[in-house]
Amino acid sequence: MKHQIKIYNTLSGKKDLLKPRKGRKVNLFVCGPTVYDYSHLGHARTYIAFDAFVKYLRATGFDVFYLQNITDLDDKIIARAREKGVAPKDWAESFIKEHLKNMKDLKIDSVNKYAKATSYIKQIISQVKRLMEKGYAYEIAGDGIYYDISKFKNYGKLAGRTALGAEDSVSRIDYSKDKKNRGDFCLWKISDSDNEPNWPSTFGKGRPGWHIEDTAITETFFGAQYDIHGGARDIIFPHHEAEIAQMEALSGKNPLVKYWMHTGFLTIEGQKMSKSLKNFITINDFLRRHPAKYLRFFVVKNLWRSPVDYSESAMIEVKSAVERIEQFLRKLKEVKAVKSGDKNLKNKFKAFKENFYKELDDDFNTPKAFAVLFDFIKETNKTLDEDKVFKKEAVEIYKFLEEINKIFGIIDFKEVSKTIPAEIRKLLKNREKFRKEQNWAKSDELRAEIERQGYIIEDTKDGAIVKKI
Ligand code: AMP
Repeated sequence: MKHQIKIYNTLSGKKDLLKPRKGRKVNLFVCGPTVYDYSHLGHARTYIAFDAFVKYLRATGFDVFYLQNITDLDDKIIARAREKGVAPKDWAESFIKEHLKNMKDLKIDSVNKYAKATSYIKQIISQVKRLMEKGYAYEIAGDGIYYDISKFKNYGKLAGRTALGAEDSVSRIDYSKDKKNRGDFCLWKISDSDNEPNWPSTFGKGRPGWHIEDTAITETFFGAQYDIHGGARDIIFPHHEAEIAQMEALSGKNPLVKYWMHTGFLTIEGQKMSKSLKNFITINDFLRRHPAKYLRFFVVKNLWRSPVDYSESAMIEVKSAVERIEQFLRKLKEVKAVKSGDKNLKNKFKAFKENFYKELDDDFNTPKAFAVLFDFIKETNKTLDEDKVFKKEAVEIYKFLEEINKIFGIIDFKEVSKTIPAEIRKLLKNREKFRKEQNWAKSDELRAEIERQGYIIEDTKDGAIVKKI
């Protein structure tokens, strides 16, 4: 099947056909975490969404290099480390470890390279120097080097703002009363204090601003221009706007990035989940309560750029949806050779696959694609219950679901493929029969027998499931 993939691009404000700069090669950069605390479900939302998207691109024949930075140098890290009496470097390192472990637990394994900001200080200094030489940056004595946003005529093109409305670009270490424009941001902060991380440079001992770390890293790996840049919506302005201003000024080439993809927020009671608002649930906390696959499904059952509200009741729905798919797979596995089956199923399966991919090709619309899957499950369940599915088709459908699970990571196939002994299956079948006849006493008796033999029963919309205790 030939895929024509469209994605919503913040820069153009519409869905654009994905046409990488060079053939099928896609260079993708996504903003990584600022490591001063444990990663939370908001981070997980963004990174699961990109993980699934990258896996989809790879499955459709794109050769993706997925680069992510790690902000291991930031005022918040310094402040938190100071509070705890620990060296900022050690503080950051311990949370990098935690973050990478979280990513592994969530089966986020599509990133080719994690690049720590502190490993690219030489490249950062080189960019600051070149921006000075080209007249885009100026020095405030004893304070630092700032980017002059009035020199970059396209400032605001990503976020749809003008340089005059850029006051809110003052964030992190960007405050200084001597700046030329209120929206000017810091490229290099001078500091020779022993209490802070700093590096020697021609402008004095100091540390980099936030935005310059990303362009130094992307220039190192991709050069002046690349294909896709991602992150959540909160960093469109000023962070991504500043990246454009820095790199396009340096190279004289535009656009820095062809497609800008911004994920929607994961909220809790309607408010963005964030470290600073202290309303966060860590990934570790989540995984103590639920398996990773539920979080992955929670993310992909929503459109990547829409907001999603997390709650425990939402997880109940997720659990039941995942179980529907698992139950369907179990039924497919149990299909026996039949003489007369539904000859139409072959065409229905073909149409389902086409529609499923059509939705994914259109802006990676996972909620619509899963709606297509659940319609197919509903219809095919009827055919399965009538024992009218040919073995060959059952195997093909099972294999297809295994294939797409490599993208989404929502099904535990090991669990699904555990065989249930024939005797237990027989007991279950009889119990179902008694339930249909509303003979509750008999059905309870069989449940107790099944449990005695080491299995539990869960009743779902699509029938009962047995699992090993
Ligand atoms: P930070 O650790 O705040 O630098 O964020 C790292 C990445 O996670 C950035 O792309 C953020 O935009 C994203 N992110 C942070 N909080 C959320 C959230 N509540 N929902 C979705 N993405 C988020």
